[in-house]
Amino acid sequence: MTTTRFAPSPTGYIHVGNLRTALMNYLIARKAGGTFILRIDDTDPVRSKEEYVDAIKQDLEWLGLHWDKVERQSERLDQYAEAADKLREMGRFYEAFETPTELDLKRKKQLNMGKPPVYDRAALNLSADEREALRAERGNGVWRFKLDHERIEWNDGVLGDISIDAASVSDPVLIRGDGQVLYTIASVVDDTEMGVTNVVRGSDHVTNTATQIQIIKALGGTCPDFAHHSLLTGPQGEALSKRLGTLALRDLREAGVQPFALLSLMARLGSSDPVELRADMSELVDGFDIERFGAAPTKFDVQDLYPLTAHYLQTLPLADVADTVANVGVPAELAEDFWLMARGNITTLKDLGGWWELCRDGAEPMIDDDDRAFIAEAMALLPEGPLDGDTWGTWTKAVKEATGRKGKGLFMPLRKALTGQERGPEMATLLPLLQVIRAKG
Ligand code: GLU
Repeated sequence: MTTTRFAPSPTGYIHVGNLRTALMNYLIARKAGGTFILRIDDTDPVRSKEEYVDAIKQDLEWLGLHWDKVERQSERLDQYAEAADKLREMGRFYEAFETPTELDLKRKKQLNMGKPPVYDRAALNLSADEREALRAERGNGVWRFKLDHERIEWNDGVLGDISIDAASVSDPVLIRGDGQVLYTIASVVDDTEMGVTNVVRGSDHVTNTATQIQIIKALGGTCPDFAHHSLLTGPQGEALSKRLGTLALRDLREAGVQPFALLSLMARLGSSDPVELRADMSELVDGFDIERFGAAPTKFDVQDLYPLTAHYLQTLPLADVADTVANVGVPAELAEDFWLMARGNITTLKDLGGWWELCRDGAEPMIDDDDRAFIAEAMALLPEGPLDGDTWGTWTKAVKEATGRKGKGLFMPLRKALTGQERGPEMATLLPLLQVIRAKG
């Protein structure tokens, strides 16, 4: 059965880049009727924070990316220790004692000699006594996985055929000197034991995948299908990594972006399919195909989320936003008319407040000098009694007859005087909502 996972480290808020990974894994699982696991990669006890675990869950829930199971790496340390023992028994795991400074020096020397900066495996030549002495002097070493120096190959769901020479990669450290298990092995153990069939992650993980394939094989597991999506860049192709902090999902939510705007964009961006607003998860699921995504970096412009959000809101019935409309202060009896008037004239729900203020308090009128007399005359002609959907028509007809004005010369000054703006909702739908006039009228 198809099983995917989204595996964030709870060391910060998740951002649009993480969402791409989460969404692809989610859509693959749902399309296949499989299982989507939320795996919390919290083996780092210092940087992992419970508040981020909660935040990750909230963000996914906001988007409707419901998971079938949660797993936490911090609860699976025994399994990782077992795998480590297995690798030790096989002679694929060795302890190394170089300090970061020593490693750095080695790398610099290699680079100076025009060689790739690959760990030289000096630790493999240590005798038991030397190891003992180093341990006494420096404490426990790190544990490295001994790669087989052969080519590591896989057919990547996005990148196609990949072939990496294991000799060009350093033996990965899987356990730190302080005993902390690192992601590289924890992830392999989890993917194998949890029956993960498809791993989609960013292309920054390609080298990890190469080493993980060897670890999976060493432990007797079956390799999942791997796919590495391209990384996001800014609109001009600039690196986004530094700005990702400002593109946290919660900030976008705060800014008024709607979930389906975000999902619709992220489910297609970087693929050969056009971005179209979808308001239904099943449509996103049906139309998703990882093979349609390209390997080139994907340009992401946060501004693209706003027209999609506006477009989405235009289609919503009051029932979907009733709380927001009430919170803005719109009385229940006006809510329906208010929403139908406003929904086509907002970018996000945050704009509702402005329209309600206009209805309740009126706007600073915009009246050209030439129009002053006209506006005064028109206001005097405003029909008595309650304002309704017909009032605008009756009123402007009367104004037209009285003043001889027509077309834009008739309507625009009225709109500007009543709303303080040149553009906005249909005046016929807005007028009955203008409480301020109703009070006077
Ligand atoms: N915790 C890893 C990360 O966030 C997971 C990578 C993976 O999907 O294997 O980069």
